Order: sequence, then C-alpha cells, then structure tokens
Amino acid sequence: MSGSQSCRVAELVEAPSRIEVAAGTELVVTWEGQAPASVTASVLRAACQCADCRSDAGLARTGGVLRRSDEIRITGARLVGAYAVSLDFAPDNHTTGIFSYELLHRLAVSATD
Ligand SMILES: [Zn+2]
Repeated sequence: MSGSQSCRVAELVEAPSRIEVAAGTELVVTWEGQAPASVTASVLRAACQCADCRSDAGLARTGGVLRRSDEIRITGARLVGAYAVSLDFAPDNHTTGIFSYELLHRLAVSATD
C-alpha cells in the first residue's frame, strides 16, 4: 500500500506554529494567534486513520489498547510534509499513524469545546 506519493495540500487548516508533546500524555498544538490546544494521547490513538487501524483486526486491537487508555503515551512525533504529523504510541508501539493538521484541529476543537 505504500509507494504512491500523494501531493495533497490541505488548505483548510494552516500549519500550526508549534507542536509539542507534553509529558508523553498529550499533544499541545498552537496555531498562530490562538491559545494552545491540547489533545490527549488516548484521543489521538483512538482517532488514528491509518489503514492498519481501519482494518477489522486493527479496530479490535485498538479497542484493546483503549480499554487501558491511561497507559497510552506518545513516544515520538515527526512532521510529515507540510500537512501532518506522524506520531508513535506506547504501549502498543504503533508508529504508522499520520495526523493531518485538519484532523488535529478537529480533535483540538472538540477537546476544548
Ligand atoms: Zn493506526
């Protein structure tokens, strides 16, 4: 499933001015001119859109991980192109999740309400 380079540009949500992992338990995302918005590791893990997580086996595994949501940590974060951030999660060592800025914005908005 890999190998096709997508050149998709997300124009709806601009790149955050700052993204940081706080204590491994939440991602704090700041857009220019806005207050920092935090999204917890478990919310991000539940929202993972990768092909692996969207499969039946993946959904079952994610469900198992989420039953112990207080153990979920973000162990790594890397920018992907100009539109997303890739996150690594413990304890299931999930590393294929890519979170677009648009998805982050949606999760952050629902978190702050
Ligand atoms: Zn995933």
